[in-house]
Order: sequence, then structure tokens, then C-alpha cells
Amino acid sequence: MTEVKLDDIVSLAKRRGFIYQGSDVYGGLSGTWDYGPLGVQLKRNIMNLWWKHFVDDREDMYAVDAAILMNQKVWQASGHVDTFVDPLCEDTVNHRRYRTDHILKDKGISPDGMTMEQMDAAIAENGIKSPDGNPLSESRTFNMMFKTNVGATFDENSISYLRPETAQGIFTNFKNVVDTFYPDLPFGIAQQGKAFRNEISPRDFVFRSREFEQMEIEYFVNPEHWQEAFDELLASTHDFLRKLGLPDEKVHELDVPAEDRAHYSKKTIDIEFDFPIGKEELLGIAYRTDFDLGNIQRVSGKSMEYTIKGTNDKFVPHVIEPSFGVERALMAVLSTAYREDEVNGEKRTYLALPEHLAPVRYAVSPLLKNKPELVEKAREVYKALKAKYGNVMWDDNGNIGKRYRRQDEIGTPHCVVIDFQTLEDDTVTIRDRDTTEQKRVDGKSL
Ligand code: ATP
Repeated sequence: MTEVKLDDIVSLAKRRGFIYQGSDVYGGLSGTWDYGPLGVQLKRNIMNLWWKHFVDDREDMYAVDAAILMNQKVWQASGHVDTFVDPLCEDTVNHRRYRTDHILKDKGISPDGMTMEQMDAAIAENGIKSPDGNPLSESRTFNMMFKTNVGATFDENSISYLRPETAQGIFTNFKNVVDTFYPDLPFGIAQQGKAFRNEISPRDFVFRSREFEQMEIEYFVNPEHWQEAFDELLASTHDFLRKLGLPDEKVHELDVPAEDRAHYSKKTIDIEFDFPIGKEELLGIAYRTDFDLGNIQRVSGKSMEYTIKGTNDKFVPHVIEPSFGVERALMAVLSTAYREDEVNGEKRTYLALPEHLAPVRYAVSPLLKNKPELVEKAREVYKALKAKYGNVMWDDNGNIGKRYRRQDEIGTPHCVVIDFQTLEDDTVTIRDRDTTEQKRVDGKSL
């Protein structure tokens, strides 16, 4: 398998219209990325696959799409205002800011389980300087939520935040869903949408962005049965990762030790993946107990209890949360699919994407674009395939060899060429991206 570097992915993503730097034309805005035509399609395919796997194919899942701006009490009750912080230190000469744990990690020292004071001590003991070689300040905490004001009055009451996770929009709608649908426990509420974190040092392409997309489930259970639900969602997550085409041997479970878990979590498994930047978190599954619903109940004064149908048995449900980041899934998919090989003595780059994820499923070309009868026939085939699959591309740019190269690089599994024989018997040539083999088939069989 090709040893893939992050730079290979970044340059292919830009060159072929998957992902561009956000606000590029004005010099960019750090930690933001714009999806181009192919990136939008790939991202949508990943998100739709998740939706099908975790929502449509299950009987116990409900969906919400909550507002991004929420009442500030949401973030006070959830603890984000006080505790959604990262340790920040500063280069004392040029005042560049860094995440203290990242500074340690980059020097091969694991910050896991360390307090901020212990991290500062490790920096001092090891004589670690900033990346520019200057002394570092002591660390302080930095809240990662983007603060804003809602409405025309700028005072304490108008403060709001761009949501740093989609989860709270699910918890605040728990009672609404129960009151309107009264589902049996256990059941889940799923949501996909944007989340925003003012990361101190966004890096590694889309892996650590300031604006990103999450796919989250809050799965509500009777606390006596949390373990079964946790195990089932973990197994289902592995099935989903296989559907993304990620090889099992690159996927690792990390049972997060108590000292590194969020204080409300009784168990967390991080799913790590061998990215080109190393083994890093792809997603997490956490048993969040009744922490969130309990906080909402306490701060809002409204009951979050669930009554088992036909009984007086009431309790605040506990929650298992599988939380996926779309950008990290996309990076895992791209880095798994990236391949380099040699065809007819020439280096070739291609993306071996699974057919159901490929942004373009079929590319259709006339053999010669100056022959109207070939173009007309090719348009016919193109239209029929497009009506069937949607993501089909018309490609008559350059010679056939160039077209194949371009389609290989964007991961198109099949290139269909219409030639003179098509005019006689409706057969077309179809070329396989991975083997580069071509065969003649009945055009109507596609
Ligand atoms: P990390 O430790 O890498 O900062 P986290 O533990 O803070 O991640 P969670 O709060 O558990 O992340 O968020 C759930 C998921 O959202 C992560 O597993 C990841 O896929 C995604 N995610 C979190 N932060 C970012 C980010 N800045 N950019 C892209 N995806 C992110």
C-alpha cells in the first residue's frame, strides 16, 4: 500500500477541487476550509452513509436539526462556559500562542493525565522552547467557544456562543421528542451539523479546524442497561467504519483512563485511526451518565424524567454518545484511498474510493469530440446514467489518456467511452480505475 503523506492529500484536494483554504483570495482565515465541487459531494456521501447506517436503517432513532445559536444558559448548565478550555502558553518574544499539550506532544512527551501546572513543569524541566526558539510563558486556560451577541443590545443578557458541539441541541430537545413521540427506551436522537471551536493552534489540514461538522447521537437508556447499549453502538460504529472503506488494522480502540476522561464520563472509548499525521482520534463514544439531562433539570427547573409506559417507574435516562467528526472521517477516507502506481512506465496517482463514496461515479466521454455523431450518442448515454445515478460527469477535455488520469485522481470508478462501434451496436468501453482494464459492454447494462 502507498505510504501517504499529509502534503499529498492537501495538494490533491486543492488541485482537484475537493477542499480550498477558507477566504483564500484574501490570504485565508486560519482553521477554516471551503469545500469545492468534489469535496461537497464526498462529504455529503459520507454524511448520507452515516445517516442511513445510524438513522434510516434503525427503528430506535429520531432526528433533530437544532439552531446553532442557543440561549447562553445552555452553555452555563453544560459546564462549557467554565470548563471548555485548553491550556495556552505564549512565546515571550513574538507573542505567538500555542497549546501547551501540543508543545509537549511535539517533543515526544505525553501530556495525558497532566494538570496544567505539571505541563508547565515538564516544559521547564526539559528546557522546551517555542517553535521559534524563544522562552515560553506559564500556561493559562483559554475558553474555546466563539462568543457573540444576539440582537441590537450588547450586554450580559445578549451573549450567545456558536455551538462547540451539536450534542446540547439534542439534550435541550429531549423532552420535546419524548412529549411528541413517546418512544420506548432505549432510543436515540441524532443530529448532523456545524460546530465551532476557537482552537488555539488549528493544524493538520481539516483535522483540527475552527469550524467543522459533527454527526452525533445521544442514545437514552435505563442506567441498568447502559453497558449493552454501549457495546452495541461500538460494534455498529466499527461496521460503519468498514462501510467507509477503512481497514480494520488502521482502526484502534483507546479505553480512555479515568484521569483523562471528562469528569461526567464513566467510560469513554476513543476510536483512533492511523492518519498520515500519526495515530489520532477519529471519533469518541462516551457514557455521559445523566450529567446533561440532570444539569438541564437543575438549571431550567423542568423535569427531564422519563416514565416507563404503563408504570410509575420514573427516572432521568442515562446517555451513550457516539460523536463523529466529518472532517476527520473525510481525511481517513482520503488517506486510505490515496494510491500511487505506474501505468505504461508513467507515475499515476489515484483514489481507490469505494464506489458509494466516490464524488463522480461514472465519467462519460466521446472518443473524439469533433465528431458530432459520437458527441450526440455520448450525450444520450451520459443523460441516461445521470438520470440513474446523479453524480455522473461529462468529460471531453483533452485526449482520452488525460481524461483517465484526471478521473483516476478524483477517484471515479468507471470511465465510459463512446466510439464508432457504439453507433452500430450500442456497446461502450468501460475502464476500471483500479486495474485500468477496459472492456466492451452493452451500454444499456450500466
Ligand atoms: P481532540 O482531543 O482531538 O481535540 P476532542 O476530544 O476535543 O478532540 P470531542 O469533543 O470528543 O473531540 O468531539 C467529537 C469529535 O468531533 C472528535 O472525535 C472529532 O472527530 C471532531 N472534532 C473535535 N474537534 C475538532 C476540530 N477542531 N476539527 C475537526 N474535528 C473535530
